[in-house]
Amino acid sequence: MIERTDFDVIVAGAGPAGATAARECAQAGFATAIIERYRLPRSKLCGGGLSNHCLENLGIDLPIELVQAQINGAIIQGLDSEVKITLKKRAGVLVDRAEFDHFLAKSAEEKGANLITDAQIMAVERKDNHIEATCADGRIFTSKILIGADGVNGISHRLVRKKLPSSQTGNCLEVFPPAAPEAVKRVLKDHCVFDFAAARYGYGWIFPHRSSVAVGIGGFNEHFRKPHAIMDAFLRNHNFDADELKVKGFPIPAGGFKRPLSAERVLLCGDAAGLVDPFLGEGISYAVISGRMAAHKAIEAIRNSRFDAESLRTYDREVWKEIGCDLRWALRLTRVLHGMPRRTLAFFIRCRPVLERFTQIVSGQLKYRSFIGWLLPRLPWLLLRSLFRKDHTPRSPGVGTELKRG
Ligand SMILES: Cc1cc2nc3c(=O)[nH]c(=O)nc-3n(C[C@H](O)[C@H](O)[C@H](O)COP(=O)(O)OP(=O)(O)OC[C@H]3O[C@@H](n4cnc5c(N)ncnc54)[C@H](O)[C@@H]3O)c2cc1C
Repeated sequence: MIERTDFDVIVAGAGPAGATAARECAQAGFATAIIERYRLPRSKLCGGGLSNHCLENLGIDLPIELVQAQINGAIIQGLDSEVKITLKKRAGVLVDRAEFDHFLAKSAEEKGANLITDAQIMAVERKDNHIEATCADGRIFTSKILIGADGVNGISHRLVRKKLPSSQTGNCLEVFPPAAPEAVKRVLKDHCVFDFAAARYGYGWIFPHRSSVAVGIGGFNEHFRKPHAIMDAFLRNHNFDADELKVKGFPIPAGGFKRPLSAERVLLCGDAAGLVDPFLGEGISYAVISGRMAAHKAIEAIRNSRFDAESLRTYDREVWKEIGCDLRWALRLTRVLHGMPRRTLAFFIRCRPVLERFTQIVSGQLKYRSFIGWLLPRLPWLLLRSLFRKDHTPRSPGVGTELKRG
C-alpha cells in the first residue's frame, strides 16, 4: 500500500500532548498524521504521576491495569523533619510512561489517526500553502497545519520562537530501583515522598510504582549546578545503593513565562510550549489539556481556512488564561519559597494546614492562585500557631533501607 503523505494536520511527537491532539483531530474527521521519533512503546524518563485533574482531562478512561500505584497522600520532608498527610480521597495515580503513552497513541490510532513511528522529523518548513516535515529517512509529509508536540528537545518550536534560555529550563535526574511489590506497599503505603531539602529551586521525590520506586530530583538549571552530585547525595540520604544505580537525566521547561505558542500554520503544546509547573514539575496534565486546545484551534483553522498568525494567536491567549496564568503564580511561589532563608522554608514544610492545602494543588483540586490567596491573610496566625504546635516528626530513616527489608 502506498503510504499517505499529505494530511490536514501533522502532529509532531506521540507523547501525551501529541496523542491527545491527534485523537481529537482524527475524531473530528480530519486526516491526521502523528509522527513519532521512536518505535512505540518507547521509554520516557518520568515519575509517572497523574493527578486527578489530569485523569479528568484525559478524555478517555485509564485502564486499571495501567495503574502502578495510587496516590493517597504525601510525606513532605524538610532538612530534619517531615509531615505525613493522608488524604480522604485519592489524589491521583502513578503509571509507567512507556505503557501510558503507548495507550494514548493507540487510542488516537483507533480514532483514525495515522501513527508513523521510527520517524524523526529533521526539518519543518512553512511553505506558501502548507507545512512540510522531512524525516531522517528522507520521507516528506505535508499538511495544512502543524501541531508541535515534540517535547522540550523537539524542533517544531523553531517555526515559532528561539530555543528557551537556560534560566527558563530545568534538569531532572531519575532512577527506578527495583523493589518487591509488598515492600513498596508496606513502606510507602501509596504515599509520595517530596524532599524539599534535597535541592534549591527544586526537590527530590520517591514515588511508589508496582515493583520499583521512582527516585528523582529536579531543579532550575541556574540553581542546580552539579546535578549528579546532588542526586548521589539524595540517593545516599535515603539509603539507596547509589553506586549500583544507573541514573538518567532529561531536561524540563519551566512554565509561567509568557512565550509565543503559535505562528502561521503552527501551534505548540505540552513541553514544546514550555507548559510545566515550575514548582512541582508536573507537565502531563498541561500536555493533555493544551494538546486538546491545540486540536480545537487547528480544527477551527481548517474549517475557516484561516492559518495566518493573527487568527491563531487567540490560541496563545486561551492557553495563557487556562494554564499559563496559574503557572505564573507557581513561578512566584517557587521564587519566594526557595529565595527565603532555609529556616523560613522549614516553617512552611512543617505547617500541616499549609501542607494540607498544598496537597490539593497536587491532586489538581486547587489552583496556585487560590492557594496563595488562602495563605497570605493567614500567615500571622500560622506563624503564631507554629510556636505552640509541632506538626512534624523527625525524618524517618531512608526509604531505601526499609525497601531492602522486603
Ligand atoms: C525525570 C522527570 C520526571 C517527571 N515526572 C513527572 C510526573 O511525575 N508527572 C508529570 O505530570 N510530569 C512529569 N514530568 C514532566 C513530563 O514528563 C512532561 O511534562 C510530559 O512528558 C510532556 O508531554 P509532551 O507530550 O508535551 O512531551 P513528551 O512526553 O516529551 O513527548 C514528546 C514526543 O515527541 C517525540 N519527538 C521529539 N522530537 C521529535 C522529532 N524531531 N520527530 C518526531 N518525534 C519527536 C519524542 O520522542 C516524544 O515521544 C517529568 C519530567 C521528567 C524529566
